[in-house]
This record gives sequence, C-alpha cells and structure tokens, in this order.
Amino acid sequence: FNVPVAKNEPINSYAPGTKERESLQAAIAEARSKQVDIPMFINGKEVRTDKKVPLSPPHDHQHILGHFSEGDASHVKESIDAALAAKAAWANMSWENRASIFLKAAELIAGPYRDKINAATMLGQSKNAFQAEIDSACEIVDFLRFNVQYMTEIYKQQPASSEGIWNRVEQRPLEGFVFALTPFNFTAIAGNLPTAPAMMGNTVVWKPAYTQIYSAHVLMEVFNEAGVPPGVINLFYVDGPTAGDIIFQHPDFAGIHFTGSTAVFQHIWKTIGENIYKYKSYPRIVGETGGKDFIVAHKSAYAKQVATAITRGAFEFQGQKCSAASRAYIPSNIWEDVKKYVQEDLKTFKMGGTEDFSNFINAVIDEKAFDRIAKYIDDAKASDKVEVIAGGGHDKSKGYFVEPTVLLTTDPKYTTMCEEIFGPVITIYVYEPEEFEATLKLVDETSPYALTGAVFSQDRYALEVAVKALEQSAGNFYLNDKPTGAVVGQQPFGGARGSGTNDKAGSMINLLRWVSPRLIKETF
Ligand code: GLU
Repeated sequence: FNVPVAKNEPINSYAPGTKERESLQAAIAEARSKQVDIPMFINGKEVRTDKKVPLSPPHDHQHILGHFSEGDASHVKESIDAALAAKAAWANMSWENRASIFLKAAELIAGPYRDKINAATMLGQSKNAFQAEIDSACEIVDFLRFNVQYMTEIYKQQPASSEGIWNRVEQRPLEGFVFALTPFNFTAIAGNLPTAPAMMGNTVVWKPAYTQIYSAHVLMEVFNEAGVPPGVINLFYVDGPTAGDIIFQHPDFAGIHFTGSTAVFQHIWKTIGENIYKYKSYPRIVGETGGKDFIVAHKSAYAKQVATAITRGAFEFQGQKCSAASRAYIPSNIWEDVKKYVQEDLKTFKMGGTEDFSNFINAVIDEKAFDRIAKYIDDAKASDKVEVIAGGGHDKSKGYFVEPTVLLTTDPKYTTMCEEIFGPVITIYVYEPEEFEATLKLVDETSPYALTGAVFSQDRYALEVAVKALEQSAGNFYLNDKPTGAVVGQQPFGGARGSGTNDKAGSMINLLRWVSPRLIKETF
C-alpha cells in the first residue's frame, strides 16, 4: 500500500515577464487561431456526427473556437454498452494499475497538458489565467493524487480476525455503470466526477455541461493518453432529457456523481425514485448542488479583512461558484469602513477578456446566465429596499459582462439575500452590534442551503457562539477567512440541506460511495 505521498500542485502566478506567462499566452493565441473539431469519445474511439454545434468564448461571443459533434440517444446507449462491456476487466485489474493510470493523468496535466487545458478553460469558460491555473491545472491534479492515496487507505482497512478465523473485506465496485453529470464552473469538478468512481473499479458514462465541452475534451485526451482503457470513461454530448430517459430507466444504473443546480438534482432524485423497481441495486446518489453562502462579521472584526473577503469571496470567477459569498451581515460599527474598503478594492478590478491577463473580471458563462443575473440586478435597482453600493452595470454586446455588484438592503429577507444568483452579486444587511446572536439565527433561517459560510471576529467567545449557532448552516465553515477556495486534501468540500449529499469531494467519504463491500469470513 505504498503510493507517493500526495502533495498539492504548486500554483503558477503567470506574473509579467515569466516564461510560464509567455507559454500560456502562446497556447491561447494558437487556440484562437484555429478551429477545433471536438468529437465525443465512446469505447476508446472518437465519435463525430453531422450535427456540429459552435463554441465561443463567453467574453467574445462572435468568435468561433470550433465545433463539437452533438450526439443522440444512440450514443448514450453505446456509451452504456461500452461501460458494461469494459466492466469486468477494469474491476479485476489490480488497484496498483488503476492508481498508476490516474497518477500518470495527474502528471500529464501538471506537465505537458498544462497550457492546453488552462487555455481551453480560459477561452471556453472565461476564467482568468490565475483562476484557470487553480482549477484546471492544480485542483484536478490534487483530486487525482489525493484520491489515489485515499483509495489505498480504503483498501487497507480490514476487520479483526481471531484464531482459526479470517475476516476480510473486499471493496467491490458497484454492480452496473456510474453516470457522471458535470458542471461548467470547474474543470476540476468535471474531471473528478468521472475519475473518482472509475478509480474504485467502476466504469462511467460522462455528460458534461455544453458550456464546458472545450476543456472536457482536453481532459478526455489526457485520460486516454494516461492509459484509461476503452469503455472505462465514455464521454458524450447529448441533451439532458434524452440522456436521462435512457440512463435512469436502465437496470444496470448503479449511481450518479453530480454537481449542478438544486432543481436538476431534485428532479433526478425523483426520477430515480420513480424507476426504483427497475434497478438491480439501490443506486448511489451523490450530488453537490446550490449555495447561498454567507459572511457574518462580529463587531470585533477587522473591517479591511471583511472587505477583502467580500470582494474576493463574491467576485472571483464572476461569483459562479457554489461556494461564492452572496450575502453578508455587517455590524453598524464597522460598516462605513467595510464599505470604503470594498469600493476602493473594486476600483482595481479590471473587466474584459481572458486574453488580457490584467483583467480580473471576465464574462459570465452564457446568455441565459447573463439574463438571469441582469434581472436580479435590475429588480434590485427598482426596489426601495435596496441601494447599489458598487457596480450594477451589465452589457452583452461583445461578451456576457456583468459588473461586480454590491447591494445594500434594509430587508434581511429581500430576494437577493435568499435566492442563489450564481453571478457576481452580493447583498449586504447591516445589523446593530448587540444583535449578534439574533443575526446568527437569521443567517441560519434565511436560506434552504448549507454549503459554505464565514465568520469574522477577533473575539474568541463570539467565534465559539457562531460555531455553535451555525452548526447546520454550512458544510464548509471558515473562521476569519473567505468562504471559497477549498484546497483538495486540506479542506474537503461539500454541504448538506439544499446544497447536496455532503459526500465531500476529494475525500475517503466520497470514494466509499463508489464501492459495495463484501465481507468474507473463512474458518480453518
Ligand atoms: N471547491 C470550490 C471552492 O471551495 C467551489 C466548488 C463549486 O463551486 O462547486 O470554492
């Protein structure tokens, strides 16, 4: 059980004058100068169709990066057949071999594929260089390395035996195939959802969000080059209802690994329930869904620290993170300072395309997202309960640009304090300092989600009170730090209530969902 000790992949800064910056800029220029022709990847083969769908950068929607081949029901069926056919050989392969394939994938991303996958994430999903690096280079590498380590820890754990008796646990993969349904907002999550079950000996059918296909394609190239055998991970681009109709009716459907919206996850859960008599086993349902993540400051908090948490926590990657701070509760004694620091900080945030590395804010993912976010902002502007403290502008003429927007409300239950917006908008409610405990109660009761949250205080007692009062309000809870940026291996990530099944991405808990243990007792 000796595997390399997992370490977090160091993050490149891409600072001006570095060779890493030059090399990434060259990869972006090259990607922009050609047209990609992206195939599906089923049973180890590239599959193209006549239905070519164009791909554009969200920050420059008139530019065509290339096309992907859209599939239909037959491609979902082929993927399932391939996964089932590949199952026995993959499950019987030694765990060391499976581990080496994924460790090799990690090294390919950390090395030769780094620029290519970062460029695909920057152009396809409109992330700036540093955010792409954290996501599509480092986090996916960390998922692969740490999961290999957790996998060996799972195989190592065995029950006690006694004289003349040997008890052993065999960690069998699930019987059937696993469905990975992955989001646009993190290339790393798109990579983790199929590979975590595959690592444990399962075969997978994978449907990425259409808005992440560019980087999903690069991930698939890596998995293939690393030696993932044909049929083990099958990638198709088929619309949700068509894919769902086939997958959730299939007797060999063994589980779903999901990140996406709460509404979609609840619909899937209901569909699985309706089909329960068709399956050989109870399917594993693992999902990370929405969030309405909070920042609460106590009267003893440092205003500057709180302001930085607001601007970084709410606006990195345009707030398109399940973990993004989207509501803040600030005591009146520090509010004027927090406001001043937030407004000053936001003046330094440049907005524009990802090709110019000095832009911090890029575009939101697509027109649908833009329209949804713009409506929340316009409604807020029209409300007498809300004042716009910063931002408020939006323009989709060239790209889907929304200014980082800070709203101040007098109503702690105003729509944007309660609903997930999934964009660069945070709403602030100012409370009286002596109302700290009542405010904590309000935080807990205001949203159905429980993903991340942060409390700021220089008073140890206040922190203790908040830790207790908000016990069920967040799966990832941060003291004196912003509620985003969980690092694999250090802060396993996930939440409960409306935010998901809390099977912590990048942890043993998650990997254990992809095995079905058999206990073998033998007497001599
Ligand atoms: N793990 C990420 C973070 O801690 C968020 C993932 C997500 O948005 O789904 O910021």
